[in-house]
Amino acid sequence: MKMLIGGKWVDRENKIEVRNPYDNSLVDTVPAASSQDMKDAITSAVEGFRETKKLSTLERINILAKTARLMEQRLEDFAKTLSSEGSKTIREARFEVGRATTTITVASEEARRINGETLPFDSRDGSINRRGYYYRFPIGVIGAITPFNDPLNLVAHKLGPALASGNSVVLKPATVTPLVALKLGELFLEAGLPPKGLNIVTGYGNEIGDALVTDDRVRMITFTGGPEAGLEIVKKAGLKKIGMELGSNSAVIVMADADLNRAVPSCVDGAFGCAGQNCIGVQRLFVHTRVYDEFQEKFVAKTKTLVVGPQHDEKTEMGPMISESEAKRIESWVQEAVSQGGKILTGGIREGSVYQPTILADVPLSAKVVAEEVFAPVVVLFKFDDLSQVIETINGSKYGLHAGIFTQNINNAFQAIEGIDVGGIMVNDTSDYRIDQMPFGGVKLSGLGREGLRYAIYEMTEPKVVCFNL
Ligand code: NAP
Repeated sequence: MKMLIGGKWVDRENKIEVRNPYDNSLVDTVPAASSQDMKDAITSAVEGFRETKKLSTLERINILAKTARLMEQRLEDFAKTLSSEGSKTIREARFEVGRATTTITVASEEARRINGETLPFDSRDGSINRRGYYYRFPIGVIGAITPFNDPLNLVAHKLGPALASGNSVVLKPATVTPLVALKLGELFLEAGLPPKGLNIVTGYGNEIGDALVTDDRVRMITFTGGPEAGLEIVKKAGLKKIGMELGSNSAVIVMADADLNRAVPSCVDGAFGCAGQNCIGVQRLFVHTRVYDEFQEKFVAKTKTLVVGPQHDEKTEMGPMISESEAKRIESWVQEAVSQGGKILTGGIREGSVYQPTILADVPLSAKVVAEEVFAPVVVLFKFDDLSQVIETINGSKYGLHAGIFTQNINNAFQAIEGIDVGGIMVNDTSDYRIDQMPFGGVKLSGLGREGLRYAIYEMTEPKVVCFNL
């Protein structure tokens, strides 16, 4: 495929090969953009903004709603591309396309609700004759940078709110998964978006990222990815708005009074869905001593039933990791945990880019598989007696995105809700629960700001005050 700059599909001699992570087969190529291409895309977005900011609310609603309808019609095509370039199974890919359709639909609905309010200018001596209000205006060019793991829905979470509020966009999708983002770009053009309003530049983040991040014409960088790149971007961005959706090592608590018939399958899904490459995936699993043995037995047994294989096979429940090097990374982290006393209850086997669903126990808190973000199909079990102590242990993490607690007791639930430092806590669900219109984001190294359409629109607009002196 080609990249989208200035309303045109642009090619370059230098190519990036997009390969299926399961068997390394070539899916497609995209141009490897240069920094000059990125600068040209920003120039185009500056020109595009002159048009997008003039679109009426109705025009913005219609463009987004039509884009969502077109995506719905092409669900299968999008799902096939998504599960070829990425590591999601075809069933996971269909689910993501459905979610992305909802995300764009909600963006179109939220465009209708970008409100201001009247202000009491007559509330001060000498100001009695003044009347006024504020409304929210789009800030300009939004630079969006997205990761590989939800290559469509996370792009929708940037383009939806940016375009719903009248901004223009330069998007840099992850190098390994650029294809569905480009396909979404095609739909926006088909739906009538001013062509320069959306620019999609394919290229390596460490080569062309700076040209986007440091450019003063870009008014906001909205980034989803790992903390390493996130911190580098924050340091370089200068005076512009920043949205950071970063990683985590999410914790889930299973109390003695939990319904294990719900908790076990939910924890299996939360730990191994998308081969564990999920920012809110279950990584640290704290189970009360009284039910630990029963939970462990059922959890290991259920995990062993997972069908691991190629993404396009309808029977596959877990696909490969995004690359062999990522699978080798997690293999070495598990080896480190074992060398520190950790036990492998199941899994711990790698074949190419496939890493078998892996459950560990007896791992020290300092091991990488506990303290860092695993971003792999690996989960660590802990036994506990005292909820207060577990909350303290969970809060010892440098991250804080989501957490979960399984309990039938309202007091336990509230202790966790009020005690755990995270952006979202799920009761009788794992950390891996989200609907796309809720405020989503984390504390500490998990990020800054919130997404979820309405909240992202707020970040991508500013209030303009209007005052009449009568
Ligand atoms: P990543 O390596 O940080 O890459 C994310 C994006 O940043 C890619 O497009 C990458 O480009 C680009 N990039 C890398 N270095 C850059 C630089 N110096 N300047 C500008 N852009 C740069 O993350 P990933 O491996 O794709 O994704 C996994 C991470 O994303 C995990 O940590 C996960 O938790 C996080 N995540 C967070 C959320 C959330 O909402 N909180 C959701 C999903 C994922 P290249 O592809 O060219 O390297």
